[in-house]
Amino acid sequence: MSMLKLNYDVIVLGGGPAGLAAAISAHKNGAKVLVIEREKKLGGILKQCVHDGFGLIYFGERLTGPEYAGKFIGEFLSLGIDYKINAFVTDAKKDDDGFEITVQSAEGMLCCSTKAVVIACGCRERTSRQVFIHGDRPAGIYTAGTAQYYVNILGQMPTKRCVILGSGDIGMIMARRLTLEGASVEGVYEIKDTPAGLARNVHQCLRDFDIPLHLSTTVTNVYGEKRVEAVEVCKVDKNMNPIPETARRIECDALILSVGLLPENEVAQMLGVHLDPATKGAVVDQTLMTNVPGVFSCGNALHVNDLVDYVSRSGEDAGKSAAEYCKNLSTTSKKIPVEYDKSKFLYVVPQHYSIDYDASMTIYFRARSEFKNQRVCVRSGNVELINKKFRNLTPSEMEVLTLKETNAVGDKITITMED
Ligand SMILES: Cc1cc2nc3c(=O)[nH]c(=O)nc-3n(C[C@H](O)[C@H](O)[C@H](O)COP(=O)(O)OP(=O)(O)OC[C@H]3O[C@@H](n4cnc5c(N)ncnc54)[C@H](O)[C@@H]3O)c2cc1C
Repeated sequence: MSMLKLNYDVIVLGGGPAGLAAAISAHKNGAKVLVIEREKKLGGILKQCVHDGFGLIYFGERLTGPEYAGKFIGEFLSLGIDYKINAFVTDAKKDDDGFEITVQSAEGMLCCSTKAVVIACGCRERTSRQVFIHGDRPAGIYTAGTAQYYVNILGQMPTKRCVILGSGDIGMIMARRLTLEGASVEGVYEIKDTPAGLARNVHQCLRDFDIPLHLSTTVTNVYGEKRVEAVEVCKVDKNMNPIPETARRIECDALILSVGLLPENEVAQMLGVHLDPATKGAVVDQTLMTNVPGVFSCGNALHVNDLVDYVSRSGEDAGKSAAEYCKNLSTTSKKIPVEYDKSKFLYVVPQHYSIDYDASMTIYFRARSEFKNQRVCVRSGNVELINKKFRNLTPSEMEVLTLKETNAVGDKITITMED
């Protein structure tokens, strides 16, 4: 079969907010760029997020998801950057000159050569397979994102009366959306003793609509032959084991799962990128370059972000770094580890610092549990690089530290949390 051969400096995988920001920034830094997007439209998950609350940090205004994406798509198209939609990567490998990406597209198979690759593939929702629920497997079990697609894109109601398992942001946003559309949301059931999503969503999506949030409670059984007819919920003990005497049955026609997101890294793995077990995204340095020279990662593919504003920022950083990489193809910088206390931090990105590269560094982290009035300190050797006080740290809120000058003097960078 003949293949169309294409040649670029930077290929960006994914046309969501991370990919668009990466492509714009790589283009502005002199690279010839191609974006590959598997869906039929650019914009990523934002296309179906019709609620507002996007862009407060980046644009200083409250935008809906499509409005936020529209701003980037407008700039992207005005710059004339190449892109392929309905295009799916079937193979990716390193070669002597960089990388060869094979793409199945409406135009046929494409063979794309590139010096650098930016992984901006977003994340996928965990499904019922990844959570342990007994019982039948009838129709009517959706992830929150799928329910959102039904309501906001297809204009169809997936339920009249539902139970939501998990208090992730998408689940809470869908609890409100379904209520506004006339469904009865019987409750949001969260196995942990704190909500998984942002505090603002607990208030604006659940409390304001009198939707009950049941903490330390989970769904233990699903009933229904063809369609969901009921679920069983149970309180859990401190080890998260269900307490059988608390079991109760709730009649409903749907179970909606909001039990977490997983960075999408299949193509990254084809290229030999190492993943961090804590984030499930790539291990990167401060330029967002992975262990494979020339492969960069950003957005939700790198780690799950709460706010799209930070997704765009990481896209910009990865795009700029990829364009710079193409100019000197340097692979020799010494890397030192960024170390942190795993009992206090859930994760820290980046995981490495490259001595010879950009001295500025943006650090993203989540606390492992709730902490009050803590100082987060970043040090290199005996030099304190930044010291910032946080009143409230919680796993559901990602935090950011920006270091303009990282004077790395030691053989590692350490991040600590102190009273
Ligand atoms: C329901 C929901 C509500 C949200 N609410 C808010 C909010 O109120 N405020 C806020 O700031 N943020 C919110 N967010 C978060 C924000 O939308 C995301 O952080 C952001 O969209 C992530 O951007 P991304 O580009 O990394 O990923 P995505 O938007 O997921 O884009 C990734 C793109 O990559 C494509 N892709 C994946 N794999 C491949 C491949 N192999 N080849 C080609 N293309 C590929 C996908 O089709 C997709 O278009 C919400 C997210 C969701 C899901």
